[in-house]
This record gives sequence, C-alpha cells and structure tokens, in this order.
Amino acid sequence: MNAVNPDTNDLESEYEALLSFMYLSPVGIIRSDQAGLVDMMNPLAAQLLMPLVKGGGIENIFDSLASVAPELRNLAASFEGERGAVCENHRVFVTPANEGAVVLACSIIKVGENLLMTVLTDISRQVAAERRARQTESWLAGIYTSVNDFAFFSLDAQGRIESWNPSVERLTGFGETDVVGHTLSCFYARDEHVSHRSPEHIALTRDEGWHVEEFWCETRGGRRYWGQVLVAVLREEEGEIAGYSVVLRDVTERKVNSDNLARLLTTDHLTGVSSRAHFFEIAEAEVARAERHGRALSVVMLDADYFKRINDTAGHQAGDEVLKRIAGEAKGLLRTSDTVARLGGEEFILMLPSTTTSEAVAVAERLRIAVERARIDTAVGKLKTTVSLGVATLSHANPTLQSLLAAADRALYEAKRAGRNCVRGEMLDSTAVSSSTCEEDSAGQN
Ligand code: GH3
Ligand code: MG
Ligand code: MG
Repeated sequence: MNAVNPDTNDLESEYEALLSFMYLSPVGIIRSDQAGLVDMMNPLAAQLLMPLVKGGGIENIFDSLASVAPELRNLAASFEGERGAVCENHRVFVTPANEGAVVLACSIIKVGENLLMTVLTDISRQVAAERRARQTESWLAGIYTSVNDFAFFSLDAQGRIESWNPSVERLTGFGETDVVGHTLSCFYARDEHVSHRSPEHIALTRDEGWHVEEFWCETRGGRRYWGQVLVAVLREEEGEIAGYSVVLRDVTERKVNSDNLARLLTTDHLTGVSSRAHFFEIAEAEVARAERHGRALSVVMLDADYFKRINDTAGHQAGDEVLKRIAGEAKGLLRTSDTVARLGGEEFILMLPSTTTSEAVAVAERLRIAVERARIDTAVGKLKTTVSLGVATLSHANPTLQSLLAAADRALYEAKRAGRNCVRGEMLDSTAVSSSTCEEDSAGQN
C-alpha cells in the first residue's frame, strides 16, 4: 500500500481488510458515533448484545446497554478529548451475578471526531473463576481458624501485616497490636532475623504468584518452632496487586524427622563421623572451592594397622571399640571446616581445606601419636593400636578429586610398606615426614 498518496482502491482494500479483521475477531467490535448510533458491528458483537435487546434491533449501542450499564452513555458524552479511552474493561453484568452469569468487559475508545469503537469481551468464565477463588478463600479461612497449628492472615501491597485473626495468636502468641503493620519478620526467631528476607518473600511471590519458605520462628513466649510460610498474591480487578494472603504453619515435627533422616544418610552409624557417601558428596565441591579461591586442600588417608589381628584375638566387638576410638581421636584434632569420614572397614579419610602438605603431615603425625598413646577400653580389657597415614595435596600433579585420593592411597601404601605406624606423603622425602619408628607389629593386647 502506498501510504504517502493513497488512492481510492487502496482505501477500499484497507477497509475490506478491516472488515475481515472485525469479522474474525474473537471480541465484539462496534463502530458508532459519540451518541451511540451504530454504523458497523461484527457478528460476535451482535451475538453478545442480542440478549439485551430481546429480539429488537441494535441501532444504538447505549440504548442496547442501557438496562445493564446506563452510565456508559454519560461517560461517552462527557469525554472531551479528541482521541482516547472513554472506559477500559468496564464490567457489565448482563445477567444477575450467580453461577453461569454473563459478564462483559466493555472498552470504548474515541478514535476520531464523533467516532467511537466499542470492544466487548465475554469474561463470564474469568468472573466465575474469580468467584470460585473467593469462595475457596473464605472456605479455607474457615478451616484455618479452626486448626491449631495454622495462622491465616493477609499482607498489604507493601508486605505489611494487614489483617489479624485468632489463629495468629493461637500459633504465635502475638496479639493484633503486636503484628499489624509489621512485616513477616516479626515471626522470625531472633537468630533468624535478617531484615532483607521478608521483602525477598514478597518479591518472589510477586514474580511467581505464590511462594513457600521455611525458617525458624519464635512465639511471643519464646518457644522456637520451624515455620512454613505460604504467601499467595491477592489480585485486584485491573491486575494490580492488592495484597497477599499468608498461611503460617508449625512444621517442627516434620523438620525434626527429616533432619534425623539427613543425619542417618550422612553419618557412619558405628563411629559417628561422615559416611563414605557423604564424603564423596561434599568432596567434589571442596575441590572446586579450593581451585576457585586458589587455596590449598589436603587429604589424609588412614588405615588401622594389623586390624584383622585385633578382631581375631579380641573379637569383633572390641574391634568396633577400637574403630570408634580412632574416629574420636581424629575428630578431636580437627577444625570445624575439616571433615573426617569413614571410607569403609578400618579406613578413614580427613579432608583439610586451606591446609598445605606440611601442615597436613603435622596433623597426621599428631593423630598417629594420639592413637599410639590411646589405651582403648573394651569388654576384654584395654587395647592399643596404631595407624598408618598417607598425605596428599591438590596440585598440578593431583588436580582432581580422583587423582588426589589416588595419591593419598599411594602414600598410605608407602607408609604400610615402610613398616606401619608412620606418615608418608607424596613429593616428600622420608626425612621430612614422620620420624617415628615403624614397628613390625605394634597392635595387640596390652
Ligand atoms: P594392614 O595393617 O595391612 O592394614 O592389615 P589389616 O589387618 O588392618 O588389614 P586387612 O585389610 O587385612 O583387614 C582389615 C580388617 O578390618 C578385616 C575386617 O574384618 C575388619 N573390619 C572391617 N570393617 C570392620 C568393622 O566395622 N568392625 C570390625 N570390628 N572390623 C572390621
Ligand atoms: Mg584396610
Ligand atoms: Mg588395616
């Protein structure tokens, strides 16, 4: 189409295009003058207006809508601008508001001098859904107020507590004046209080429509409980957020159970140190962290010496006591950032972040001496034992977890070969490590 100099044919084809667009449109479109006299409408508009005119004609849009929306005529008549929206998504209840009601959204745009375009959309289903949602909400409110470990309340658009009801006091101990006007953080336990968290919940809720979060809470009386908060958006008619509804629950029991489960999954049942599975779960991340920050990372692999003999001479149960003591000595030596895990049988590993080879050798040597000196209480008397240790450090030669563990394993093998009860580390000559004498058989009954 030539936009600069349109001839009659162009205008005609443009008009035809507009007509076919209107004809196919999924919304009702009516063109009229400012007084409402209709000169064009599409089939859907006729269909939507027909029930209102009860078989009569649709000459005037405002006459047709007069019984249900008499205000529209005045709105259009008093619109003074040259162009613009007379009204947008004005709700017109065609039949009474009950299930199956017909509701239209009506938008009127002034598109030129004495020329209006009216757009009608059937929003009956949307309105019915909204009504159902409101019913559900009041229904839920009824349940929440009668269930003890729920608190149900609402927040304003800024995330401040707006409504209060007895369920809040039952769960949290807080009265109306304690909480209204405050954010969700008034429920947090004191040590959980991080001022940015409450706005964070609100921001996430705004993006997703709803948001669930769990954290330690505290009642007014100081009782700690693990709280689950569900925040959902309450929408206003124009899609603006009017506020949020919140359900706060006490889920302490579930939290405690899942923590116990987590402990079972990450802990070695005999010795209480980390399990093999847990070690491999965290080890990769530890290696990655050390690489990212350019920090040292060392491991010490430990194996009890002649352990089979302890089992054979003192019994399996005494053997278990010895394993527990070795684990205990290792735990006693470590910093909080260190990990000790039982890899299996009588073999343990220490993971020491930010620790160089020589520091790790010193730790290993202290552990060797601690075990050597221990007199271990068992049902068959006091036992003594020794351990062999192999040290390896993350380096160009050992750049991955796998190569690091393999290096520690080789060092441990060296320590065994050197006679046991000693420390060996790769890249270290034997004088730099343990000065202990490597005895042939240091394990046995005292
Ligand atoms: P080395 O100095 O070469 O390490 O000799 P060792 O006897 O310690 O090594 P070996 O691998 O021959 O034997 C390990 C023993 O550890 C065999 C196994 O019965 C015992 N063991 C493995 N797990 C447990 C456990 O949970 N409890 C007890 N009591 N013994 C275990
Ligand atoms: Mg072994
Ligand atoms: Mg052994």
